[in-house]
Amino acid sequence: MTTKKKRTKKTKEEKLEYTREKSRRWRAENPDRKKKENAEYYLRHPEERLGYNRKRRAVKHNAPGDGVTREQWKLVLMCANGRCYYCGKKSDKLEMDHITPLTRGGADDITNVIPVCKKCNSSKGTKIFCIEWTPPTHGEYND
Ligand SMILES: [Zn+2]
Repeated sequence: MTTKKKRTKKTKEEKLEYTREKSRRWRAENPDRKKKENAEYYLRHPEERLGYNRKRRAVKHNAPGDGVTREQWKLVLMCANGRCYYCGKKSDKLEMDHITPLTRGGADDITNVIPVCKKCNSSKGTKIFCIEWTPPTHGEYND
């Protein structure tokens, strides 16, 4: 007597689990591949990387706010007209500063960010604007 094995149809969930398992295995066997892909992506899109770092920081500090979209940030940059909000110096590399730092309870949204130059940003750090840190007067950084 021969017994024919009955083929059971895989359920949707089983198929999904199979796919998940397959990609898990792939990632385990190719640990550097995904990292390399990400690194290459961020090299091509450095502005995305900035967004990623900021979002990660916001999550880390449980900051309130919905984040800042690229469109909102472009608008803020346009209003700044290429000048640092703190020192007034022209710069083509303005950075996003949280007026009240995320580490001090500031929100990660459009109401709490301004474009500033690298010097002001690193000088201010996590200090609170006007209370712990005041911007230099115009022309103070003679360069
Ligand atoms: Zn500045």
